[in-house]
Amino acid sequence: MPQQNHKQALQDPIFKVLSEAAEQLGVESYVIGGFVRDYLLKRGIPKDIDIVAVGSGIELAKVVASKFPGDPKISIFKNFGTAMIKHGDIELEFVGARKESYDRNSRKPFVEDGTLQEDQERRDFTINALALSLNKSNFGDLLDPFNGISDLKNKIIKTPLAPDITYSDDPLRMMRAIRFASQLEFTIELKSLLAITENKERINIVSKERIVEELHKILASKEPSIGFSLLHKTGLLQYILPELTALEGIEEIEGQRHKDNFWHTLEVVDNIAKTTDDLWLRWAALLHDIGKAPTKRFHKKIGWTFHGHEFVGSKMVYKLFRRLRMPLNDKMKFVQKMVLMSSRPIVLSEDFVTDSAVRRLVFDAGDQVDDLMTLCEADITTKNPKKQKQYKNNFKLVRQKIIEVEERDHIRNFQPPISGEEIMKTFNLQPSKEIGIIKAAIKEAILEGEIPNEYGAAKSYMLKKGAELGLVSQ
Ligand code: ATP
Repeated sequence: MPQQNHKQALQDPIFKVLSEAAEQLGVESYVIGGFVRDYLLKRGIPKDIDIVAVGSGIELAKVVASKFPGDPKISIFKNFGTAMIKHGDIELEFVGARKESYDRNSRKPFVEDGTLQEDQERRDFTINALALSLNKSNFGDLLDPFNGISDLKNKIIKTPLAPDITYSDDPLRMMRAIRFASQLEFTIELKSLLAITENKERINIVSKERIVEELHKILASKEPSIGFSLLHKTGLLQYILPELTALEGIEEIEGQRHKDNFWHTLEVVDNIAKTTDDLWLRWAALLHDIGKAPTKRFHKKIGWTFHGHEFVGSKMVYKLFRRLRMPLNDKMKFVQKMVLMSSRPIVLSEDFVTDSAVRRLVFDAGDQVDDLMTLCEADITTKNPKKQKQYKNNFKLVRQKIIEVEERDHIRNFQPPISGEEIMKTFNLQPSKEIGIIKAAIKEAILEGEIPNEYGAAKSYMLKKGAELGLVSQ
């Protein structure tokens, strides 16, 4: 194949600086990996640039840094032989070309200096092994010993070396292959897919943090089901998210069947990906039904039930986040809340929508009510067009009612119109259970629509309730 030149990818003045620095140091240097791949895929010009030097990456980084104005900060990772410079919004990562060999029990390779080609060999995929020369003699030439360019065109994920070795050496690559397949909508070549299946157990030596990083990227893709189906097909999912694989399958007893909640979940995730980029709402979609496996029962009269699966599911979210070392913070609480409330609007949408039910929903969901509606809309996967239309229309109605109720009653972030202190003063009470009873009664009356969410109405209601309890106002 004739040598392709891609000078236009290297128009940013940074590349000139890199080229001069390498020449001054007397080393060859190349841009490699994601930058070249994404440029050729026309995914825009990436901000992360990986530079490989045939020599010391750290020394090259030092010379480059000295050429930038303002003496930019350079981070050196001696153990890895890498260095990083932040230049404006661009991150330059430097590494020396290297050859790697692996120990079976760890992802840490034994590293030696190598040639460019040896460095390209140790890369995970042919599409990630593409390099552009920064050397004066052939500036912008594409170096592609493994035909990555044709794999890019054919949208194929292939490993430069034998797949079994590539994945066994560093099992994180299994996750990366599937993530790229999902993100770029590429196909993983069969040999690779088989090797991943073969090596699936080795995912256990990969840190949870790295696994989660890839899961985030799969979830962020346009059609996350591509990635999750591949995780399932290769058997990896069982090791990573057994809560999801437990949802697979349809059982039939006495002619009664339930839906396959695993494939349903993937549909829900694809649906929600069309309407929101919020990563945590996508996580909520992925986990919204996990409580269904442990709560599944068959009853002769009513068939299959999953009673309390939302509550059980929300508890499972905590365990799952902890196991995967995900943050146990407000993000987790948000996912828990979505899972816990995931059936609430559905009940509304199947029924006649009353104002009080909507008020209760807004009261319980607070600021997350819109996210909850988005989740529930995505949850409609019925193939019956009549039902599909009915549910969608009802959700529209619920959304409309939420706006109306909000305008009128301001239930979102509800603050009781009468404080406990005022109740105490009015009836000359010490802290006691009566105060709680009256406060709860006022809240109930507002949510039921018996009284508006206003001070005057709440005060009269308090006096009435107090009298019923035999209290005398002062
Ligand atoms: P993205 O930025 O979308 O994650 P990327 O390809 O730039 O894509 P990085 O993790 O930044 O991903 O890695 C940069 C390059 O380093 C890759 O393109 C690839 O050549 C190489 N690489 C990264 N991780 C591995 C790995 N586990 N095994 C082999 N090569 C890898």
